[in-house]
Amino acid sequence: MRSNGHVPNGKQAAAGAAFKNGIQVVNSDGVFSDDVGPYLTYEKINPAGFNYHLISVFGSQSTGKSTLLNNLFGTNFGVMNEEERRQTTKGIWLAKNKREDEASHQMADNILVMDVEGTDGQERGEDQDFERKSALFALATSEILLVNMWETQVGLYNGANMGLLKTVFEVNLQLFVKDNHSIPRSLLFFVIRDHTGRTPLTNLSKTLVNTLDRIWASISKPAGLEESKIQDYFDFAFAALPHKLLQPEKFDDEVAKLGTRFREGYKDPKTVGLLDETSQPLLLPEYHRRIPADGFSVYAKGVWEQIQSNKDLDLPTQQELLAQFRCVEIARECLIAFDAVIVPLETKQADAVRSGQSTLLPALGLAVSTARSSLLREFESAASRYHKGVFKKQLEELETTVDGRLKLVYDGQLNAASKSGVTGFVDAVSETVRAGSKSGSQYDFAKIVDVEKKRAISKFEELANESAVEGTSWSDHSSQLDLFKKDLDKESKRLRQEEMRLLATRVERWIKSKLDESIGLEFNKLGSRRGGSGAPETGSKPPSEADHWDRVWTIFTDIVAQAEKRFVDRAASFDASSDEVEVGLWRLRRKAWIALKTKTAEETAEGNLAMKLRENFEDGFRYDDEGVPRIWRPSDDIDGAFARARDNTLKLIPLLSRFRLAATSAPPPLDAWIGARPATTSRADEEDLAPIGGVDDAEESLTEEMTVLSEARQADITHRFRKTADGIYVEAKRGALGGVTQ
Ligand code: GDP
Ligand code: MG
Repeated sequence: MRSNGHVPNGKQAAAGAAFKNGIQVVNSDGVFSDDVGPYLTYEKINPAGFNYHLISVFGSQSTGKSTLLNNLFGTNFGVMNEEERRQTTKGIWLAKNKREDEASHQMADNILVMDVEGTDGQERGEDQDFERKSALFALATSEILLVNMWETQVGLYNGANMGLLKTVFEVNLQLFVKDNHSIPRSLLFFVIRDHTGRTPLTNLSKTLVNTLDRIWASISKPAGLEESKIQDYFDFAFAALPHKLLQPEKFDDEVAKLGTRFREGYKDPKTVGLLDETSQPLLLPEYHRRIPADGFSVYAKGVWEQIQSNKDLDLPTQQELLAQFRCVEIARECLIAFDAVIVPLETKQADAVRSGQSTLLPALGLAVSTARSSLLREFESAASRYHKGVFKKQLEELETTVDGRLKLVYDGQLNAASKSGVTGFVDAVSETVRAGSKSGSQYDFAKIVDVEKKRAISKFEELANESAVEGTSWSDHSSQLDLFKKDLDKESKRLRQEEMRLLATRVERWIKSKLDESIGLEFNKLGSRRGGSGAPETGSKPPSEADHWDRVWTIFTDIVAQAEKRFVDRAASFDASSDEVEVGLWRLRRKAWIALKTKTAEETAEGNLAMKLRENFEDGFRYDDEGVPRIWRPSDDIDGAFARARDNTLKLIPLLSRFRLAATSAPPPLDAWIGARPATTSRADEEDLAPIGGVDDAEESLTEEMTVLSEARQADITHRFRKTADGIYVEAKRGALGGVTQ
């Protein structure tokens, strides 16, 4: 994971030059540098996790500390100039181990060294303050405090070094002990300089330990810790070096040996507080401050600023703050790759929604699952090094945020799948039905619906499974599948009703053509008393005009009965419910009645009716009972024949004026025949139905419904017919007198 404080590419070379000899972490004004992050990036330590080490050096001014570090670690810390005796600049300096020789291979990776430079703490109050602050800072960050002193200083209880150590102990108590948080141990590594060899190192060590015990005894300890020993908190190690200027070669040899001790290792369980084996490795796990490398700069800055502003330094809080900061930062970095995959998908969906369409994202589940799992994996590998509680919370938050977004995408996908599934289903059914009706075959509507429904459902499920996001509990499509099935059912019902309506229309059309033919014939018979216009059918009894409406009713109900049968048979293949069939039949009967009424109106329209009356009259007047045309002679009873024929025809007018059955002289049982309105009729079912008098709760009565000719029309028709008949009579009379046959 890359980290905070990137060095912009263009500045890399410049930064390289600036960073060659390390950096000043805290300057002489006590200001923390912004270069720590970039420096760790430059030195490629950022990705190291916990695989780095921090060592700080302490000791009186001009005891050769910087010289020692430069020799041990190949650094280039400022060293006091021999001739000028000029002080190096105050501050805290940081550099990475630069050793690359043979011996350096035994050293641990990524050793960082901090050189603390200040004036002697005893001289001025201000500097004592800096000494204390830098001690705090070093303790909060470093695994090893390297204490540098002359051999001659050993045993001097009141020397400058001892004051410094007292400070270190007090600060340690302040930092780690009083809060009773997990107390990291630190290693105090004493390097005794200008060792003459007259007093062996072991003796010097003992003297030092005694002095340390005395110092420890002298500081005031928090309640409950009065009896604690210094060894409870610190381990000690010792080394001695010969005079650099007097024994330069020996000095170099010893320094080289010393360098190899900066390697990782474990403590012999028998040792208590003392690493007295001179070859014992010094970098033990218990000293590590467990600040991930990519968080070090933020942590160190936070710690220093607390120290600098004289606030109580609470390291656990600092670590939590660091964890929070870094987890957010890491999450943001991890989200870049995730967004590169997810944002285009989100955009595509949003665009589709905006334009009122739906879009299916191909291979969604795979893309999303991969993006999600690598996001979480990367976050975990980088962030889990930080404070566990904070990390877990941030991981949950990240998951919640990410899953919130992914769920929207997933839901959008299922929505689109559902929409396109429904459209596809409707299209497929309509297409198959259209093909079926085109070929004229009796297609099985219910079966078509069933097959297409199954196909749509399996396609939906396949898509949903393909879109599932691995590792989530919410990518379960059962509820969406239920909704999808409901939508399909709704569409099936709609399609079936449409199909029923089409069927009804077809059957209605059939009824109309049948009525046209049969009822037309029936009305034509009115033109003749013997069932034909002129030519009588031998052997058949002429139909009685009085039965006209009975025959119409019978023909009508027969036709409708046949139509009903067709309708019911066909509807059965739709899987139509009995309710739907019932409603369909009810509508059919009503429409059939309206069709009959229309046909009747057509037959009794002005011209038609006048013509039929005329034909009827002529049939009675101009033909004899045998159907032979009459040739009037002057002796014939023209007047009598005329009056008979005219009166007979006139009887048709009241007969035709009302639809009624001969036996009862009452209208046909239309209301009973149509039947009560089925309870399941919808508003749409009734929308296109004309009201029928005497059947609906309309104002009109059944009598009105059955009225074919109004009183006024009857009078009008009668009047006209009489005129026509009179004309024919006059002509006949004239013909008889003139001997002109007609
Ligand atoms: P610092 O102030 O502790 O960092 O000390 P420096 O490294 O700046 O060195 C201070 C002076 O001590 C310089 O003039 C060095 O040449 C000198 N010096 C360095 N190493 C040794 C040593 O091992 N013995 C003695 N006597 N002088 C040393
Ligand atoms: Mg120095």
